[in-house]
Amino acid sequence: MPMTAKQVLRDVFGFPSFRGIQEEIVNHVVEGGSAFVLMPTGAGKSLCFQIPALVRPGIAIVVSPLQALMDNQVAALRQNGVRAGAFHSGLAAAETMRMRSALEQGELDLLYVSPERLLADWFQEILQALSVSLFAIDEAHCVSQWGHDFRPEFLQLARVLSQHPGVPRIALTATADAPTQADIMERLGLQQARVFRTGFDRPNIRYRIVNKKEPQDQLLRFLREEHQGESGIVYRTTRKSVEETQAFLLKNGIHALAYHAGIGDRIRSKNLDAFLQEDGVVMVATIAFGMGIDKPDVRFVAHLDLPKNVESYYQETGRAGRDGLPSNAWMCYGMKDLMVHLQLIASSEADEPYKQVLRKKLNSLLAICETTGCRRKSLLGYFGQELSEPCGNCDTCLEPVQGWDATVAVQKALSAMVRTGGWFGNKHIVDILLGDATEKVKERGHHELPTFGIGKDLDAKVWSSVIRQIVAQDLALPPGERAWSLLPTPAGMDVLRGQRQVTLRKEPEKSKTSRSTRSKSKSLLGKGMNDSDAELFEALRKLRSNLAKEGGVPAYVIFPDATLLEMARLKPTTEARLLDISGVGPKKAERYGDEFLQVIRG
Ligand code: ADP
Ligand code: ZN
Repeated sequence: MPMTAKQVLRDVFGFPSFRGIQEEIVNHVVEGGSAFVLMPTGAGKSLCFQIPALVRPGIAIVVSPLQALMDNQVAALRQNGVRAGAFHSGLAAAETMRMRSALEQGELDLLYVSPERLLADWFQEILQALSVSLFAIDEAHCVSQWGHDFRPEFLQLARVLSQHPGVPRIALTATADAPTQADIMERLGLQQARVFRTGFDRPNIRYRIVNKKEPQDQLLRFLREEHQGESGIVYRTTRKSVEETQAFLLKNGIHALAYHAGIGDRIRSKNLDAFLQEDGVVMVATIAFGMGIDKPDVRFVAHLDLPKNVESYYQETGRAGRDGLPSNAWMCYGMKDLMVHLQLIASSEADEPYKQVLRKKLNSLLAICETTGCRRKSLLGYFGQELSEPCGNCDTCLEPVQGWDATVAVQKALSAMVRTGGWFGNKHIVDILLGDATEKVKERGHHELPTFGIGKDLDAKVWSSVIRQIVAQDLALPPGERAWSLLPTPAGMDVLRGQRQVTLRKEPEKSKTSRSTRSKSKSLLGKGMNDSDAELFEALRKLRSNLAKEGGVPAYVIFPDATLLEMARLKPTTEARLLDISGVGPKKAERYGDEFLQVIRG
């Protein structure tokens, strides 16, 4: 007697209900329809093919670009008693043999395959003899040259698919603009498929951008106050800074590992494994770290340096909170970041029109950094999605910042730049404005300029912020490749001539969010609970962590955080009650139930 989709959801995965448009997609595919699914990370795309795979007769073939991703999904499915396997070049010969015989004996309901393996002749022969329930193409943007992770092997998929006419195909991705979507659909023969898409928003992620002062200290404070014992990613731009920050965190008692392209393969994959398997590892990394990291319980992504554009920022921060639970995207950024990027663009090989595109992209990100409005609104706006209300879950929504008419201040600063010929940077300009006769100022005779001392009404901190925002608003730039110096742009000249008003962001004094949370340092998830629930939650996490180590699987594969949170709140004491908890299916209840019940009863 085949199970219905709803039964599989409940009795295999242990979830009481579908999320969003999952149900529609699942029903469509169960009935044999093909689909193109565009939903943000964490929306729950996997169930959209896993459930039809179990409802429909035959074996489902899931094409996925990354080994680690495949192995984790298979491990998670097996925990739920699903007959799943993976086939990729990382398997030893004996494992391949075993997988092959399981396949021929019809012992699998789902097989994850890398595109290279799918194309092997012998594999296709076996496939011909099997009844295939569906093809799922995960991370489908890899099929398109327009996508950001193009993989040439994906181009061959169409050939394989065409040998199985009538088998439903479902392509899934979290990132595809209109041309990429059209390209994917064409290449995978999905012209007739139904398109399912939702907005880009990740409502559980709280976006915060703070002023950079002592970035490592700021990071440490953030981790101590908000993320005790939780997993997260810290992004830095250079290998050297990755290592510095990792060492700094280690010294301060935080379980931090490093990841960048200069670290040997063996250690790199060891660090990756530790991050995926263990609880509470902080990975300090360059952007080499990320693609395909589908760890669901990454509680924060911290940027200690500015990414190069909004796409990168959104993609990197998107690695937080795939499980839908509260998560932080925290960044600190300052004048130096901005100048580094401008210099990189100026000194790159690109031609002038392309440099302008890069600057424009950078400016879009800066506009989000310097906005006085809702961050999420500008972020989604960049991707063409309108948010009707401010989100209530970003720093500017939580602690509104004021704008101020800074036209006169900006004129003073720009004028100092003009009068010094565009040869000087931030600090020297501020010295002149404040009337500070430093050696350098006297040496150049700048204490005799009419702009000397005309900015005494504001202090050095405010002036720094003014100049940073001048650059961010594209009112001044380093002329040519002359690093660190500043000269007004044509838009800046308009301000100088009084043809343009400028509103700037008033720096918030001290963050209230950080003060209010200082009272108790806990994990982010523990914060919403009373003390005894939070204590129980920590105990459950500890148990999970031990079980994961014993079983050699990632902690979240045993139970996701959401499930432990519910256990801590509802405190089930019998197996029947335990089964009511979202994420506890019969297989897991049988395997782990007693141990978790014991901790709860205790
Ligand atoms: P995506 O592939 O879209 O990034 P996943 O399929 O990895 O997202 O799902 C993200 C998380 O949400 C997983 O931890 C998954 O178990 C959970 N999840 C998915 N669907 C549901 C549901 N209907 N109810 C509860 N949790 C769900
Ligand atoms: Zn907001």
